[in-house]
Amino acid sequence: MLPTLALVGRPNVGKSTLFNGLTRTRDALVHDEPGVTRDRNYGVCRLDEDRPFVVIDTGGIAGEDEGLAGATAKQSRAAAEEADLICFVVDGRDGPTALDDEILRWLRKLARPTLLVVNKVDGIDTEAAINEFVRFGFKEVIPTAASHRSGIDDLLDAVLPKLPEQGQGEELDDDPERVRIAFIGRPNVGKSTVVNRILGEERMIASDVPGTTRDSISVDLERDGRKYRLIDTAGLRRRSKVDEAVEKFSVVKTLQAIEQCQVAVLMLDATEGVTDQDATVLSAVLDAGRALVIAINKWDGLEKYQREQAETMLSRKLGFVDWAQAVRISALHGSGLRELFRAIHRAHASATREFGTSEVTRAVEAAYTANPPPVIRGHVAKMRFAHAGGSNPPTFIVHGTRLRTLSETYRRYLENFFRKRFKLVGTPVRFVFRESD
Ligand code: GDP
Ligand code: GDP
Repeated sequence: MLPTLALVGRPNVGKSTLFNGLTRTRDALVHDEPGVTRDRNYGVCRLDEDRPFVVIDTGGIAGEDEGLAGATAKQSRAAAEEADLICFVVDGRDGPTALDDEILRWLRKLARPTLLVVNKVDGIDTEAAINEFVRFGFKEVIPTAASHRSGIDDLLDAVLPKLPEQGQGEELDDDPERVRIAFIGRPNVGKSTVVNRILGEERMIASDVPGTTRDSISVDLERDGRKYRLIDTAGLRRRSKVDEAVEKFSVVKTLQAIEQCQVAVLMLDATEGVTDQDATVLSAVLDAGRALVIAINKWDGLEKYQREQAETMLSRKLGFVDWAQAVRISALHGSGLRELFRAIHRAHASATREFGTSEVTRAVEAAYTANPPPVIRGHVAKMRFAHAGGSNPPTFIVHGTRLRTLSETYRRYLENFFRKRFKLVGTPVRFVFRESD
């Protein structure tokens, strides 16, 4: 499970700036895609690739308990109460304020592990700024200037040892043949219907995975002779708590399920098209580099013109992930499921395919020969050799000179060239460029 860090503090101290600094992805490509929206409050910090964690930007903690402000405050408090670690963010220029004191009192009552972050120390005496907060009594105080990206690494160094390790290992990787999938999407798209339909057909061989907690229920099943694990299946959770008519959509659970799966099945509702919330979930899958299958549900009962409308909408909004297979299904009638599993299998095979050094180098050479990068001020980027750098997603490490000058367009060209050449379907593809002298 991904650990969680909550940023807590009064308005304007720099929480969201800090949040952006922690959660920005190294995948600039994904960032710039039109149609990708990001949740402003939840993100995953991947600055240390081996230790990702969820960052929650809580809005105002203090404030009246009524109306919209009250609702925000309640949500923020709930998020902080569940976090593994809290960063109490204060403004090093303003010094302590009455509102800081109020939050401090609340944090003391909460008694969760907490760090003090003194932000906005750019251009001021850091030592003096920190000293103003001595009476808050924190053992660990991290000065940052979030808007200058300064202090973020120190903050990370302070945060990581305090987060629980992700006991992923044995529980998840016991059987390399088993494909870990997660059905994700916003509320009411049909996740629990599809999961129950799948399990209903396979009930005999489905079994709960031991060791999973009440909050995360995974189920193993076999289908057409292949083994799967359904990760953190919201539908099952709901089935066991029948009185809770609608379970609250949990962003953190979704992020955790994405992290644990190999193939994410993003469910959409054909009758509603692609909403901002869908795009947010999608961007989380892309950031995590997971293989992706898009299941367009509720395809039953649509009139012909509605289907056409849906198709147009989907290709317009999802054109940038055209490498992912989109399968039209009806969870209600159980149609399209065979095709869905075929797509899942294909995505998994692409995402986990192994690549030899010579085939990768040959592919780079072929791409280069077919379309060399443009000459920039008398120089041209050269790619010398390449090799595989990991799977799920397939990662290719290219060595050469002036690779920094390769444009986005050229990088995309390379990506598409590799996709075609290696018939990669349903998975992001990553390139890492290394300068060699
Ligand atoms: P939030 O309300 O706590 O989320 O605060 P924001 O992140 O929105 O920041 C509030 C203001 O402070 C914005 O204008 C930021 O640009 C500015 N700010 C954030 N971090 C820093 C910093 O490290 N130094 C300075 N000088 N300004 C900052
Ligand atoms: P979840 O919140 O994503 O788990 O969504 P549910 O599985 O609870 O489904 C939400 C609503 O959509 C329920 O009323 C389902 O009966 C309905 N629904 C789910 N799948 C389909 C489908 O394929 N076709 C139609 N017409 N309705 C569906």
